Amino acid sequence: MSGSKPNPAQIRELYRFLLTQLARTGQPPSREMLQGTLGTDSDAVEQALTHLEQDGGIYRDPVTREILVAYPFSTKPTNHIVRFPDGHEVYAMCAIDALGMPAMLHTDAVIASRCAQCGRPIQVVVRDNTLAESAPPDIRVWYQTADATCIAAVEQCPSINFFCSPEHLDAWRALHPGQRGEELDVPRAFVRGREVFGNLLKAGGTKDGPSV
Ligand SMILES: [Zn+2]
Repeated sequence: MSGSKPNPAQIRELYRFLLTQLARTGQPPSREMLQGTLGTDSDAVEQALTHLEQDGGIYRDPVTREILVAYPFSTKPTNHIVRFPDGHEVYAMCAIDALGMPAMLHTDAVIASRCAQCGRPIQVVVRDNTLAESAPPDIRVWYQTADATCIAAVEQCPSINFFCSPEHLDAWRALHPGQRGEELDVPRAFVRGREVFGNLLKAGGTKDGPSV
């Protein structure tokens, strides 16, 4: 065991493997699988994960160090379910993450969520990289902004939600004064998701744009 420091290409490869596995199964790969991918030891895997965490690509349980999030995926249930054409489902961290997944994975998808104010079901269908359907008809997304230093999983994602109508977003904002962010309709939220996540799995791609 060398305990060698992972190089940027290895970190990148591990990150891609992590995202690909999460897209496929909704769960992160085991430490052994990550080690196999890097062809190295557990120290190097830990260093690579720490790097990704500091970079804002993943979030781990502060105590157990279990991978809880690799944006846009959550390993734990959230309000935002993304269903792929083969029927399997994954959880997205927030509304924008859900809307970015089809572009990231080059796939059609059905996004099922709930109005954060009243709980009414929300459905958005993405087909051939375009918005095919969304219901109810006047959905809004609240795009919470955050400081660069914030931990998105904890401080930002929980506030980036779908609303069944502009009125229900207004009602939610009245109950949560002081929130900073932007009101988006579904087409604009879809573009935002694509901007953030569309290049994530491309060679040399990074999670750019706002950290969600
Ligand atoms: Zn509502």
